Amino acid sequence: MTPMRDRDTALLTIDLDAIVANWRLIAARAAPAEAAAVVKADAYGLGAVRVAAALAAAGCRTFFVATIDEGLELRAVLPHPDIFVLSGVLPGPAGDITAAGLIPVLNSLEQAALWQGRAALHVDTGMARLGLEAAEIERLIADPGVLAGIDVDLVCSHLACADEDSAMNADQCQRFRLLADRLGLGRRRSLAASSGVFLGPAFHFDLVRPGAALYGVNPTPGRPNPMAQVVRLQGKILQVRDVDSPMTVGYGASHRCAGRGRVATVAVGYADGWLRALSNRGHGIIEGGRVPLVGRVSMDLITFDVSAVPASAAHAGATIELIGPGHDVDAVAAEAGTIGYEVLTALGRRYARSYVGGGV
Ligand SMILES: *Cc1c(COP(=O)(O)O)cnc(C)c1O
Repeated sequence: MTPMRDRDTALLTIDLDAIVANWRLIAARAAPAEAAAVVKADAYGLGAVRVAAALAAAGCRTFFVATIDEGLELRAVLPHPDIFVLSGVLPGPAGDITAAGLIPVLNSLEQAALWQGRAALHVDTGMARLGLEAAEIERLIADPGVLAGIDVDLVCSHLACADEDSAMNADQCQRFRLLADRLGLGRRRSLAASSGVFLGPAFHFDLVRPGAALYGVNPTPGRPNPMAQVVRLQGKILQVRDVDSPMTVGYGASHRCAGRGRVATVAVGYADGWLRALSNRGHGIIEGGRVPLVGRVSMDLITFDVSAVPASAAHAGATIELIGPGHDVDAVAAEAGTIGYEVLTALGRRYARSYVGGGV
């Protein structure tokens, strides 16, 4: 494991080999469909340029981003792969998109009217978020000329409940197939994101679009996680103090010491994405043992009850594992009452970062 430098207060280690292994697992699972990679939001906070470069070297030919700027950042380092922009085109000059060869995902006929050239077409089958709505789809079926000048490469849609055993999955799948057949547009079709891949071959169509699973989030909640863990977060203990009742810890005095013990202060806070909802709920791990987070998460600091850990392990300068093999992203999310996606994308920019693997 990469050692922390003396001046680092926390270290985020990102395993590019694990991301590649996760992509390969999904690609094998989805074959003969192609596996793309969703690297929006800076690859869910892990660094889009590094992640996409490693995946491209492993054979990934298609990437999805959310915004044009994300697409431009990727194109600067990856001249060849297809880069789809999920938010589509916005009114105004489209020169950047064209020059960089980005492919917009057209989400409405309004967006389609702004575009000429290669594109994906997103039809809504149950999210009511992005994508052509029913009336637009009917208009398009009645008058295909609406898309004159647009080369529809991909027709896609998005599942609302893919991570649950919901009847809505089969409904959306059937609706998507029917609409794509009636439209008769597009060389390829795509419905599944991470969890959709695990719903079975009927959901794979020609292209799958995993994001979270590549980064270690369990695409099959409630069942064992088939994905390799990607992220390790270690914080440094700044100070350990002896406490005794009736002392309280932190803002709001929300933790009251029950007796004699030791509290370790670690240099990670909500400004680093260590969600404030983890106040009095989270855990860390020191030498394999769980230590409870006590008191409120503050901007730069958190406090752990390390009374049960020998002073030889919990001392100023020692590290505590916040995310890692014994305490993965989904476990942290469960403690915070959220999902792994939010824990990952919140990971702070202040951490020292170390990339391992990926041919580096
Ligand atoms: C974010 C997103 C994905 C990836 O979803 P995951 O659940 O992270 O795999 C795929 N398709 C669309 C349209 C998205 O917005």
